[in-house]
Amino acid sequence: MSAVERALSRLGVPQPFSAVASGSSFSAGQGREIVKSSPIGGQELARFRGASVADCQGVFDAAASAFSSWRVVPAPERGRVVRRLGEALREHKQDLATIVSHEAGKVTAEALGEVQEMIDICDFAVGLSRQLYGLTMASERPGHRLAEYWQPLGPVGVISAFNFPVAVWAWNAAIALVCGDSVVWKPSEKTPLSALGCHVISARVLSEFSCPAGLLGLLIGEGDVGQALAESKTFPLISATGSTRMGRAVSATVARRLGRSLLELGGNNAAIVAPSADLELALRAVVFAAVGTAGQRCTTLRRLIAHESLASSFILRLAATYADLRLGDPTREGTLVGPLIDEAAYQGMQGALRQAREQGGRVIGGERALSGVPSGGVYVKPAIVEISPEAPIVQEETFAPILYVMRYRELEQAIAIQNGVAQGLASAIFTNDVREAELFCSATGSDCGIVNVNVGPSGAEIGGAFGGEKDTGGGRESGSDAWKVYMRRVTSTINYSGALPLAQGVRFDL
Ligand code: NAD
Repeated sequence: MSAVERALSRLGVPQPFSAVASGSSFSAGQGREIVKSSPIGGQELARFRGASVADCQGVFDAAASAFSSWRVVPAPERGRVVRRLGEALREHKQDLATIVSHEAGKVTAEALGEVQEMIDICDFAVGLSRQLYGLTMASERPGHRLAEYWQPLGPVGVISAFNFPVAVWAWNAAIALVCGDSVVWKPSEKTPLSALGCHVISARVLSEFSCPAGLLGLLIGEGDVGQALAESKTFPLISATGSTRMGRAVSATVARRLGRSLLELGGNNAAIVAPSADLELALRAVVFAAVGTAGQRCTTLRRLIAHESLASSFILRLAATYADLRLGDPTREGTLVGPLIDEAAYQGMQGALRQAREQGGRVIGGERALSGVPSGGVYVKPAIVEISPEAPIVQEETFAPILYVMRYRELEQAIAIQNGVAQGLASAIFTNDVREAELFCSATGSDCGIVNVNVGPSGAEIGGAFGGEKDTGGGRESGSDAWKVYMRRVTSTINYSGALPLAQGVRFDL
């Protein structure tokens, strides 16, 4: 038995694999066959029929029916279910992380970190279940009370990407559940087993509490299944994580029916290294952000904007550090950089490097790694590309470890370079000059959703709201008040006066 098979069996994932589930009820999909191979060494992990559009309605109806009863369960009671979900995830942390490593190619520490993120969001959601606060306002009319409060919204459709195969679902599901919503999840077809692992854990928790089965639904299929979610009026909210291309399609579909979208799309994240920076710290942060998850994070550092006084020496140190990176099997202790998800990602990377060269870039690294790595996987040496900020290729997010390095003279110029791309997810500055740090964080500084000082752009905590602007989609998920998007805001005026005064002093005397 392989490590994945052992983990799946300990989790109790039913075999043969099913693409369609509502709580503990599983059924076979009627869509195209999904063949999942591990990016580690190409070995086949699963082969089963995916969900088709025809499979969707049953799961949608179950989610609508579950919502009608779940919404009246008091929020702190809903929180008890999420607390148990957090405990179940703690118990199964290692097994879920094993599946994530084998399916998405994450190194063990990052896979464990991803499951920890699920546990953290459950903890957050439990506290939130007693804090879904509304407001009261002073009414302008005597004997009236004016208040705002929050009600459950409805079933939430969640579409997620391959590179965070479990955490993104938990960010949405834990918050949606305490808010009184049901959830239907369309995970990436590239990470079906991670999704099944999450689903069986959560389905067991739902049965322990005798929750309606349709509270958590699963449809493992391709983009057409995601489109079916986006089109369906069952879902007042679609939360979609993935490429900007996918987000454009989903948001147009959801907007046509006047639904609500929460979009977490592509990034093209930058870090500025200023002359006063602690260069040791900056180097470590830059390397982790640029090569962690083999450059396949939405928050991966893709553009380094270094002051001209230090750029050349910093590039030399970066190149030396890159040369010593431990590449290979992500489940082997000490590995820092695992494989790309598939051959298409490798081709995309090589295409971007070709364009970079044509546009005047000087490329270090970027070739396929062949020695010391498992055969059958796609392993690459992370690339550093010295290039002009005007080169068109730096505008694009290539989902691979390519770090474009540019030079600047004045901070305003660096900020203009940082903001001069279509995406607006994560950004960072390394400086010990408080004025530079404050300027970077000010209204004329970074235009991103995540703005860090002396911290790289990747590796967010769940406590803050997560997301970005412009082509990143504008959504916010996870902590802070991101829960509000999962609820319906009610503004309520109560008249206990016996008279009928009208607002704004309007008179309507009969
Ligand atoms: P992708 O866009 O190819 O797929 C994401 C999901 O969307 C998958 O489940 C896919 O099946 C589905 N999908 C694709 N086309 C669809 C359509 N037309 N309608 C509905 N659903 C559709 O992305 P990917 O390759 O899995 O992930 C990488 C991308 O995701 C990168 O751009 C990365 O930056 C982004 N991402 C963003 C965040 C964030 O929080 N901002 C987090 C993770 C990943």
